[in-house]
Amino acid sequence: MTFVPAISRFGESGDDDRVALFTGTALIIAAADELRLPTRGELAGLVSADTVHVGSLDGRPVEALRIASDEPLPDGWRAEPLRQLHGRLSDEEWAVAGRAFQLAEWDRTHRYCGVCGIATTRADEDRARVCPSCTHRSYPRHSPAVIVRITRGDQVLLGRSPHFPPGMYSTLAGFVDPGESAEDAVRREVREEAGIEIEAPRWFGSQSWAFPHSLMLGFTAEWASGEAVADPAELEDVRWFTRDDLPRLPPPASIARRLLDDWL
Ligand SMILES: [Zn+2]
Repeated sequence: MTFVPAISRFGESGDDDRVALFTGTALIIAAADELRLPTRGELAGLVSADTVHVGSLDGRPVEALRIASDEPLPDGWRAEPLRQLHGRLSDEEWAVAGRAFQLAEWDRTHRYCGVCGIATTRADEDRARVCPSCTHRSYPRHSPAVIVRITRGDQVLLGRSPHFPPGMYSTLAGFVDPGESAEDAVRREVREEAGIEIEAPRWFGSQSWAFPHSLMLGFTAEWASGEAVADPAELEDVRWFTRDDLPRLPPPASIARRLLDDWL
């Protein structure tokens, strides 16, 4: 499958358009075994004309839309959290759906100008919503966040957030503050959440994370000094694990898991 991003579509919308339709963070999919993005024709009545164009998948337009959570779904369709569809929807469609979710959410939450309060319109030339009164432009929101795998000899440091499923631990992560480099954010987060100092963080890789609009910047680092103590405001527990004594790990879709699989 080949996805090509685009801001606006050529031609009128058609029943063959693929539609990433969301209610909350759940994607509407067929209740049948075959998991794929539905078409506009299949979702007739649910999809308004006011969709956000995402691009094209194998030459077919992909549109995004959010509907109210109390909207009844037609027979044969159900809503499933996008996270849980990883590995079941094709990787390409899952990534496109994540992109679609972020665009639909940005569009929905920027209908009015943040400066003067007038209703905004979509720009033709780039991915923006524009105020017709004061010309203020709003672009899709990204929230950069750092995530780091810290090792000490044959041990890895993992923390447990109270929001995690039972027994799960993960690598430390946090949002980058305005004015801060990603490397500085890694050092600060590790100091705040676990009370330790690390050697210089090394770049690992990044991942768009659509829950709700993060760009995860992955690093690895070696422990330098300090005893690991969890910051109770953020974590229930933080501790060192060896490879043969690991807790439940994050799901495969996450960069946290990629960081850990790379170490394993
Ligand atoms: Zn304005």
